[in-house]
This record gives sequence, structure tokens and C-alpha cells, in this order.
Amino acid sequence: MDADLLRRYLEFYQDLGIATLYRRQAVAPPEPQKPAPPLVEPTLLPLPPMAPPNETLLQIIEDIGDCRRCRLHEGRNKIVFGVGDEKSPLVFVGEGPGADEDAQGIPFVGRAGQLLTQMIENTSKKEGIPLLRSQVYICNVVKCRPPGNRTPEPDEMEICGQFLFRQLSTIKPRAICALGGTAARALTGHKEGVTKMRGKWFQWRDIPVMVTYHPSYLLRPYNQDAKREAWEDLKRLLHFIYD
Ligand code: URA
Repeated sequence: MDADLLRRYLEFYQDLGIATLYRRQAVAPPEPQKPAPPLVEPTLLPLPPMAPPNETLLQIIEDIGDCRRCRLHEGRNKIVFGVGDEKSPLVFVGEGPGADEDAQGIPFVGRAGQLLTQMIENTSKKEGIPLLRSQVYICNVVKCRPPGNRTPEPDEMEICGQFLFRQLSTIKPRAICALGGTAARALTGHKEGVTKMRGKWFQWRDIPVMVTYHPSYLLRPYNQDAKREAWEDLKRLLHFIYD
């Protein structure tokens, strides 16, 4: 193995305190992804540590274990890792589990989740690219429910974000959909509100990121215009990936 690559692996694992994985074999880097249409300039988001090549989602789950790395573990019932097709070209990233997700251990199963499922399945069908929810991958920035559904704190996002980044590096989707401001900030480093960011292409590493509204926001009755916009964002995303 190339000495520089080996040094970066070791730094990565040392950062995570995982000694047992040091011996994993190196493989060729992944094929470059298709570039997105015009991008918003990346910010100075610090690069997350490099994920080991050939890591599986199961290995990430094992590393998470009975996680107590941040205060969110105190009130959680279940860690909500992610659900769906781990080979999907499309990953949706939300903020963090709510009460229903915390009880079931599955992301987006409450009211917002039902709306997300409809958005995925109805929009894709209308666009002639029929997709089931089970054919995409869905996860969150933080894997434990923030108390009272508050927004995750920056340190919680940073700690748990490492696992999100490893999930994304493992799945290597063609594009990511950031649902709402927390996911948008975690993936792009941009701090503007979702209203400004939605409908535009950003990037996480070399993977295009489309930002749109969080389904919980769309459930509010006075946000009908936002609903239309979210549908437009999703259409662009689907055509980018599947055309
Ligand atoms: N909201 C989220 O951001 N994620 C979920 O899993 C559920 C609701």
C-alpha cells in the first residue's frame, strides 16, 4: 500500500479510536461521480476524515455500538441508523429522529415520514421513473432523538456527522437530498436559510447535494407554496439521477 495512503488510514482510525480495523485491505478509489449542474461555491467546511475503502454499513453500525459519545444518548430509546437500499443512487438526509423514529429505530416513519414517502413515490411515478421508498436510502444527521425534538447542537452534529459521512462514503450515491436546514448545513457548511438554498446544487465531497424543505415544514397548512417548490426540487433531483 502507498505510504501516504496508509498514513491517512491510520490517522483516520486513530481519530476514531478504532484499533481493530487497521488491518483492512486497501482497494482502488471509487469511480468519479457525474458532476452536478452549476454548483454554489463550496464553503470552508473542514473535510471529514476519510472513510476506509470497502467499509460496510454493518461495520459502521458496529462502531456506533451502544453509543454514548454525546448527550443525546441519555434520552433515546433506539439508535436510528438508516433504512433502505444501501446501493441506491439516491440518499435522503433528515435532521434527527422524532418520537416515532426513536420508538421504532427507523427514520421517517411518523407524519413527516409518511409525507416523504408520498413525495418520493408519487413524484417519481408522475415523472415516469417509478420508485418505491425502499429503493432509496434514508438517514439523519444525528442518530438519537434530540429531547423535545429540538435542533441538534453543533457538537452533536459534529460527533454524529462522522457516522453520516461514513454512511455516505460507503453508499456513494449519485446525489443526496438534504431535507431542511440542519442537513443542508451539515453537508454543505453553508449557513443560509433553506429558503435561499433550496433548489440549488451544492456538493458533499464530489457528490451533488440538492437542498429542499424538510417534510415537517411542508406539513404546516400555510406552507403550500413550499410544497410546490419541494416537488420541483425533487423532480430535478430524480431527472439528474435517473435520466
Ligand atoms: N424528522 C427527521 O429529520 N428525521 C426523521 O427520521 C423523522 C423526522
